[in-house]
Amino acid sequence: MIIVMASRKPEDVAYVVTRVEELGLKPHVLEGVEKTVIAVIGDERILQGVLALEALPHVEKVMPVLKPYKLASREVKKEDTVIQAGKVRIGPKSFCVMAGPCAVESREQILQTAEFVKKCGAHILRGGAYKPRTSPYSFQGMELEGLRLLKEASEKYDLPIVTEAMTVEQVPVVADYADIIQIGARNMQNYGLLRAVGKLNKPILLKRGMMSTINEWLMSAEYIIAEGNPNVIMCERGIRTFETETRNTLDIQAVPVVKKHSHLPVVVDPSHASGRWDLVIPMSKAAIAAGADGIIVEVHPNPAEALSDGAQSLKLETFEQLMNEIKPLVGIMNRTL
Ligand code: PEP
Ligand code: MN
Repeated sequence: MIIVMASRKPEDVAYVVTRVEELGLKPHVLEGVEKTVIAVIGDERILQGVLALEALPHVEKVMPVLKPYKLASREVKKEDTVIQAGKVRIGPKSFCVMAGPCAVESREQILQTAEFVKKCGAHILRGGAYKPRTSPYSFQGMELEGLRLLKEASEKYDLPIVTEAMTVEQVPVVADYADIIQIGARNMQNYGLLRAVGKLNKPILLKRGMMSTINEWLMSAEYIIAEGNPNVIMCERGIRTFETETRNTLDIQAVPVVKKHSHLPVVVDPSHASGRWDLVIPMSKAAIAAGADGIIVEVHPNPAEALSDGAQSLKLETFEQLMNEIKPLVGIMNRTL
């Protein structure tokens, strides 16, 4: 339910908030440009009781939210959400480039990559310390040591970090090091994990499950926001289709669809979407044209020797080419790189 306030006075808003809490429901106060609204979420069976609050003083109206996701929806919040990760802003007007290896493999590898991508203008350093691998016999990541190396590179080159937490147990340690916590495609519907990162006050990069609909993906964002963390970045990383030429199929339409239904920022991962380094530049351009707020790309100093995802990783010089080629497009879309 959305309670649209007629008054913006803190005491009037606080009064309505208390009445909502008395019903056993959770109020989220959102200060819009024109109005203050209180989004009310909770048990669907008692939510109807909120309709009666329309009779309260200073309440303009009470409306049901039609979409199944509530706090993630544009019905509740009209303005685009801007997420801050360190000094970096993710949202409209800017275009955020997150770059780095699939996995942290060594000190030299992560430092060299960080130095180079920073020099080319990347905003955020990516790199997995805990890796979700299809085979249990594949390299599983450097774990805590990987997080330490990411931190060293982050501090040396002034780049906030995005890295994945795969389990609820990993959340506190990853949160100690990361500026943005990634929830991987395979974990998009791990509701315990979504609730755990929902309790943090840190940006979450929520990758789309490879077999998930846009609605399911937004419902997963709702789990995080409902716990109290509104800082969710949606990441389209390709879905599984019958096509075998590419690893996945980049659902580029998901960008405008999510933006239509939700106020959350959307970034595109052309590396996992295609599985091929030669498609990363064209698909990054497609992401910009579709209205994405950023991209996340895999870059490795020596992709042929990478311990994971070498085939889709850009060489350093190809990343430089990517940055040069996207610059004019980002400008055309009224964003700055
Ligand atoms: C990754 O970013 O390296 C990764 C494993 O991504 P996804 O969860 O999208 O497969
Ligand atoms: Mn990868």
